[in-house]
Amino acid sequence: MSVKAQIVNLLSDLQDELGLALLFISHDLAIVEHLTHRVAVMYLGKIVEVADRRTLFAESHHPYTQALLSAVPVPDPTIKRQRMILTGDVPSPINPPAGCRFHTRCPFAFDRCRTEEPALKAVGNGHMSACHLDHAPGTQLVA
Ligand code: SF4
Repeated sequence: MSVKAQIVNLLSDLQDELGLALLFISHDLAIVEHLTHRVAVMYLGKIVEVADRRTLFAESHHPYTQALLSAVPVPDPTIKRQRMILTGDVPSPINPPAGCRFHTRCPFAFDRCRTEEPALKAVGNGHMSACHLDHAPGTQLVA
């Protein structure tokens, strides 16, 4: 754990000192939140959401991002967070499902999701999401 923290701090220092642009790929959302400025979330090889770090962690739009964030442990036992538990297995990336690649596990999936792949579209302030519900007026996701 301390080696991990040292490496993260080293990357952060190098970025500040040398003005580097870094592409950081990780499953560790705590480090992603600590280190990054802008985040792209991928599911089965496709980007499903892009936003600046603060927006993504505070106001995620895509159901997959919401499920990921709901699984991050909170070190304060008094804080109760609603978990979004995904069921089913991750499909093979060699033979991904038709339509939205997330539809086999998405709790909000409906008919259109099974046939039409959602495009990654702007939802405001440089925030982008690839979900049919995001672009349907009057609909709102509830994690
Ligand atoms: S497009 Fe459909 S299946 Fe895909 S994330 Fe949105 S609601 Fe879920």
